[in-house]
Amino acid sequence: MELWQQMIRDSVHSVDQLVEKFGIDRKVAEDLDEFFQARINPYYLSLIRYKGDPIWLQSVPDKVELDDIDGSPDPLNEDEMSPVPNITHRYPDRCLFLVTSQCGMYCRFCTRKRKVGDSGKISMKELESAFKYIEDHKEIRDIILSGGDPLMLTDVMIEKVLARLRSIEHVEIIRIGTKMPCVLPHRITPNLCKILKKYHPIYINTHFNHPWEITEESTKACGMLVDAGCPVNNQAVLMKGVNDDPKVMKELFQKLLKIRVRPYYLFMADETRGANHFRTSVEKGLEIMDALRGHTSGMAIPHFVIDAPGGGGKIPLLPKYVIHRDEEKVIMRNYKNEIYVYKEANYSSNGFNNEDNAVEIEYSGNNGNGRHSNVNTERKVTEIS
Ligand code: SF4
Repeated sequence: MELWQQMIRDSVHSVDQLVEKFGIDRKVAEDLDEFFQARINPYYLSLIRYKGDPIWLQSVPDKVELDDIDGSPDPLNEDEMSPVPNITHRYPDRCLFLVTSQCGMYCRFCTRKRKVGDSGKISMKELESAFKYIEDHKEIRDIILSGGDPLMLTDVMIEKVLARLRSIEHVEIIRIGTKMPCVLPHRITPNLCKILKKYHPIYINTHFNHPWEITEESTKACGMLVDAGCPVNNQAVLMKGVNDDPKVMKELFQKLLKIRVRPYYLFMADETRGANHFRTSVEKGLEIMDALRGHTSGMAIPHFVIDAPGGGGKIPLLPKYVIHRDEEKVIMRNYKNEIYVYKEANYSSNGFNNEDNAVEIEYSGNNGNGRHSNVNTERKVTEIS
């Protein structure tokens, strides 16, 4: 048995352990186990510094999960968009392929609780119909392996899945969605990397939510994946009490870049049953994005998105940088709240950009550095509050 497999075996998972280790009332622990089981492996457990810290919140079951009756078991409508078991086909040229129900840790905020945990939730026997579906749909050029966590499969199984996908001519890109570099970095072994190297292009989408998750072990794991030729991107989730703080997010994204992981998405938490206590306001997310842009490298800034409830896909959100826009110009603010004007190409090239049509921009709340106006202004075109 490999070290990572031993760590899975030695995870905190039983009702007795929840009672003894975290002081959870036995009846509550039983109900929580029934609702969504726990798995906290020794590595992730070692990252907890105190009760209720960001690592604890993500991994230790809490009775508030049981009080949540508003959320949906399938907020992204993945099951509706599943033409055959294990496949979700939402976008035209790519599909999600669920290959296991197991994870290195069971995250309390998981959107896919209905599919994760018991091995019966995703049947390995049904992989064949998924492969067949991909073979029959030539428009699919990009496969996202997910679950559960695909890296919970043994090396032999992973190689079988990758080899089969690579035998399908129209499959160009394979992505692996895995939290292992964060929650159980020991899974990234030289042998796994050797296998991945054979089936490029393979992209890894991983999932770090807090700077404390960036350790010597996770740094090594991400480095090994990059050295094996896999670009590694991060998909973080904005969560109350975990990372809903611009300073924490900035530190997370800067540290990710240092370990060669590109911040790719920051998601608003989904409206998932049992996880609504993690949700923040959209305003909080916009505030965080505003605090990042211009204040750190653009490479450290992910796309901030809502995965639209009901299966609408990812919709990007931006702080309000465009203050006014018409056929002639765009009036914008930068990260220092200074105002700038960009003239539309047809406006200048059609010869309209003359003194008679000059514009003056007025705004408030600035120190004057941002005042930009054309000379001989004739009319004020916008007011900014
Ligand atoms: S690793 Fe992913 S699929 Fe597994 S419990 Fe965590 S969020 Fe859910």
